[in-house]
Amino acid sequence: MSTENVSVNFKCPKCGCAIISLPDDHTDESHAACKECGADFGPYGDIKKRAVDLVKSEVNRTIKEAFKGVKGFKIT
Ligand SMILES: [Zn+2]
Repeated sequence: MSTENVSVNFKCPKCGCAIISLPDDHTDESHAACKECGADFGPYGDIKKRAVDLVKSEVNRTIKEAFKGVKGFKIT
């Protein structure tokens, strides 16, 4: 078993652990599980996508916050 930290705001809904466990020869189709409680997180490819989306939305919020109050500046 190998572990990979995809921790960017990613947390196990059951125990809050942010470390996932994957088989050594994992692919995007391999199911990842919580390292702590073993909860199934679904296919690794989906998790990666979700993590990327989370990062994107987080960045977006930060940018919007940073430019809040700047006249004529609008992010949609
Ligand atoms: Zn867990």
